[in-house]
Amino acid sequence: MVCGFCGIEFETKKKNQKYCDQICCRGATNKRIMQKYYENKARLKGFKRYCECGQALSKYNTGNICNICETKNNIKNEQKIMEAIQIVASKINKAKG
Ligand SMILES: [Zn+2]
Ligand SMILES: [Zn+2]
Repeated sequence: MVCGFCGIEFETKKKNQKYCDQICCRGATNKRIMQKYYENKARLKGFKRYCECGQALSKYNTGNICNICETKNNIKNEQKIMEAIQIVASKINKAKG
C-alpha cells in the first residue's frame, strides 16, 4: 500500500488505512480542508469560473454548470422520464389490444 499523502510504501495495520501514519492522515485531512477553503475564497473573491458551455458562473453558484445548462439538464431528464412513460404506456396498450 502506498501512502496517499507522502507516497511512501507501507504495510496496512488497519482496514481502510490510506496513510502510513497519523501525521500523514492529518496532513491529508488538512489538505482537503484547505483546498475547500481556498476554492471557496477564490469563488467569493470573484475568481472567474466557466460552465462547460462557456457561460461565466456566478460567484454565488456553488456548482460547476450555469443556470441555463442546469435548466436544460432538468428538461432533458423530464423528457427521458416522459419517453419512458410513453414506452410503458404503449406496451400496456399493445397488451390490451
Ligand atoms: Zn505517509
Ligand atoms: Zn452552461
